[in-house]
Amino acid sequence: MKKLVTWIGLSLLSVFLLAACGDEGKSESKEPKGDEPLKVVTSFTIIADMAREIGGDLVEVHNLVPTGTDPHEYEPLPADIKAATDADVLFYNGLNLEGGKDGWFYKMIHTVNQKEENIFSLTERVEPMYLTDEDGREEEINPHAFIDPSVGVKMAEDMRDALMKKHPSKSEEIQKRGDAYVQRLKEIVNEYEERINDIPEKKRVLVTSERAFQYMTSRYGIKEAFIWEIDTEENGSPTQIKNLITFIKEHEVPVLFMESNVDPRPMETVSNETGVRIANKKIYSDEIGSPGDEVDTYVKYLYYNINLIHDELSK
Ligand SMILES: [Zn+2]
Repeated sequence: MKKLVTWIGLSLLSVFLLAACGDEGKSESKEPKGDEPLKVVTSFTIIADMAREIGGDLVEVHNLVPTGTDPHEYEPLPADIKAATDADVLFYNGLNLEGGKDGWFYKMIHTVNQKEENIFSLTERVEPMYLTDEDGREEEINPHAFIDPSVGVKMAEDMRDALMKKHPSKSEEIQKRGDAYVQRLKEIVNEYEERINDIPEKKRVLVTSERAFQYMTSRYGIKEAFIWEIDTEENGSPTQIKNLITFIKEHEVPVLFMESNVDPRPMETVSNETGVRIANKKIYSDEIGSPGDEVDTYVKYLYYNINLIHDELSK
């Protein structure tokens, strides 16, 4: 009990100290001075790219989960902890991509004692879609909303608004850059509609390893099929493979798509069993490539995927 009282005393003391420090307090939100960039931390590659596009030189981005690493189960490095501690603003996807409130991202936020007001989920305005478990229940959120460019528009708008709020002295420039970027993404939404309408209707079927394209396919009227629901659970079991083979026998499936970040063997089995070929190029789902790769920005990723889908399904 005595310990508790001391602890409460100390906590109160620190509250007073923080209040007294005002702008200098670590957990108070602050704006960089002069030409110093706003310190931004992002959870994964696509959001990091958005922050660089919208913020330009006005932001300094530290990205957490790198290309080639699963954003569901990440272990932050010491450099990540330091960046998260010093950050003026932190962006994450939400929709359980980073494991939700019990996942690694929120654990890290609590460790570094960051304030809620500095942390932004970019999918607050996105209607979640659900994966189906073995018993047919739809309880687990599908995190892959960003594959749909119309979701990208909402994410970019929310990021623009958050950066303007956190960097008021540069808000005009951020708004200009943000509006231009949102406009580009809106053009891509139109491009998706046009390109998909150009595919013969009965060929609009997208078969991938993971069920990552649910938001995109349902928005643009494409049928989806897949081997497994999500990378973090069982991948490519005999039952999963058998179910997809049954689907392919019942539908006209022109081609199978293989993601850049999956084990190729399950889809190769499906291809061998059904005689349906695998697309020549990999499709991107969970990440963009490293700088210098063919698909190293979100805009390139969106164009690359729709070109590949259009060309392969129209053959
Ligand atoms: Zn995924």
